[in-house]
Amino acid sequence: MKIHEYQARDLFRQFGIPVNDYKLVSTPREAVTASGGWKQVVVKAQVLTGGRGKAGGVKLADNAGEVETRAEKILGMDIKGRRVEKILVCDAAPIAREHYLGMVLDRSRQGITLMLTDQGGVDIEELAVNNPEAIHKMTLYPHLPIDEKALDAFLGKAIPGESQRKQALIATKALFTLFLATDASLAEINPYALTPDGDMMALDGKMNFDDSALFKHPEIAALRNPEEDSADEIEAREKNLSFVSLDGDIGCVVNGAGLAMATLDLIKHYGGNPANFLDVGGSSNPQKVADALNIILRNPKVKAILINIFGGITRCDDIANGLLMAREQLDIEVPLIIRLVGTNQIEGRAILESAGLKAGDDLDDAVKSVIAATGGAA
Ligand code: GDP
Ligand code: MN
Repeated sequence: MKIHEYQARDLFRQFGIPVNDYKLVSTPREAVTASGGWKQVVVKAQVLTGGRGKAGGVKLADNAGEVETRAEKILGMDIKGRRVEKILVCDAAPIAREHYLGMVLDRSRQGITLMLTDQGGVDIEELAVNNPEAIHKMTLYPHLPIDEKALDAFLGKAIPGESQRKQALIATKALFTLFLATDASLAEINPYALTPDGDMMALDGKMNFDDSALFKHPEIAALRNPEEDSADEIEAREKNLSFVSLDGDIGCVVNGAGLAMATLDLIKHYGGNPANFLDVGGSSNPQKVADALNIILRNPKVKAILINIFGGITRCDDIANGLLMAREQLDIEVPLIIRLVGTNQIEGRAILESAGLKAGDDLDDAVKSVIAATGGAA
């Protein structure tokens, strides 16, 4: 799950990481009022996507008039398909140097990779390609206390002053505590700025969280922004279906996440394009299959649907009943290609056949058929 910059700033503040003053607003008038008294103001789009500054979503303003015009321009802006509904006004900090300070979950190291550079502000992905040695890395482990000496030496690679290193040490420890306490998968401060007065301060914040751990953190789960997901994804979550929208034309209903991914791979392999990832889960009841088809059929791009079931705990007769139920409830105008094998496959097929539906047992054949049904490989 992603959150907005203002939400990340709220968490930074709560955990003792210094940030410049900020207020969330949704009209140009409010922006002017909220920033009254600040010498210079940064007006920032709040959207759940990166590259916002580059897209013109971050602007400095030197007086109330400028705050108003900047706010007018940014509110309603389209940034990578997302409309700006809210903006942040910040008390602009003078900047002597911009650092990047970030943490990312690193499964291969079973730890958290801390990243730091004195070439912050810019696109960190770009820096990683063009000048990777400028990004310093250190692994932190969730079950071990931070080795402060080692951390201080690490910070010294990009932060020269002793006082600044001390501030960065406190901030890094706080960010690590926040990261662990919330089961984050990513935390980034870019720029982590040095002011001419020698203060180290977060001027931007980004955090992502592990969806599977949100149940442990209701206060983080409550930060969810509905605009992060498509309407279909929201409905699927409510129906306990694991669903992700994709941009192809083949709807997919599969049992098991691994099989669902393999199915997408195979569709791609044969030149097709999946419209979604969907795992109906282990012990699928018929209603779940009907719910899944309902969500898939609302997508006007879908030209054919592949049902791929390998029954273990899932019973093929349950799936067959779900398909018939869906046919009764919905107007299914696109071809259904069904591959049905495993537990109770004979019963399942008999149910389908009595309703005039055919099921195959070979996945390659089924994938080729569904691609043919959409008009052939792309
Ligand atoms: P992003 O590009 O979407 O990550 O947006 P940022 O919040 O990182 O801002 C982009 C750039 O705007 C920063 O790298 C800074 O150069 C500038 N900026 C942001 N906040 C401030 C501020 O408080 N003072 C000054 N002087 N510049 C700022
Ligand atoms: Mn930034």
